[in-house]
Amino acid sequence: LFITFEGTEGVGKSTQLATAADTLASLGVDFIQTREPGGTPMAESIRELLLTPREESVNETTELLLMFAARAQHLHTRILPALARGQWVLCDRFTDATFAYQGGGRGVSEDRIAQLETLVQGEIRPDHVVLLDAPVETGMARAKNRGELDRFEQEAVSFFQRIRDCYLQRANTDPRRYHVVNAVDSLENVSEQIRALMCKFHS
Ligand code: C5P
Repeated sequence: LFITFEGTEGVGKSTQLATAADTLASLGVDFIQTREPGGTPMAESIRELLLTPREESVNETTELLLMFAARAQHLHTRILPALARGQWVLCDRFTDATFAYQGGGRGVSEDRIAQLETLVQGEIRPDHVVLLDAPVETGMARAKNRGELDRFEQEAVSFFQRIRDCYLQRANTDPRRYHVVNAVDSLENVSEQIRALMCKFHS
């Protein structure tokens, strides 16, 4: 199975990915854990390019193509080989993040993103998308406490509001594949929901 985790900043994605990984390990599932943008040495270099704050303004098409360049490398050299070996793949963000950030956030048209999605992925889509959802203000306050902000984290609240809306809208179109988890709940309750989801995917 190919499972991705999504959400806006500071929703506890890393913590819950760790919970998911622990759960899969305890179930005896053979899996790899990876992230986007990144997941291979070359794709991690592209991640650096994307996240470093810079003087030069970054063209939205440049950003979009770099995201998909990293994704092509990651998908074809790491994710697909793992799936072919029968391993599960647990991935921190994937193409839903591009629809949300570059689409909802930056205003790139959904059609253009969908074209690149087909070019890079063909028919491949995650089997399950876990969306950690929280009001933007809650998440941003948590993210700011982490210290230095990357190029995306420096954006305004409205940028993240559009991203959250886009994620929720996508989740609504396919409730069988998207699993929305209320990330405002206590850490223990959120973790419990993540464990339950992993058990459900396994059964
Ligand atoms: O998940 P993580 O916080 O590590 O993601 C790194 C950054 O890349 C985030 O700030 C996220 O907003 C951004 N990103 C993006 N578009 C994507 C994937 C990630 O803007 N498609």
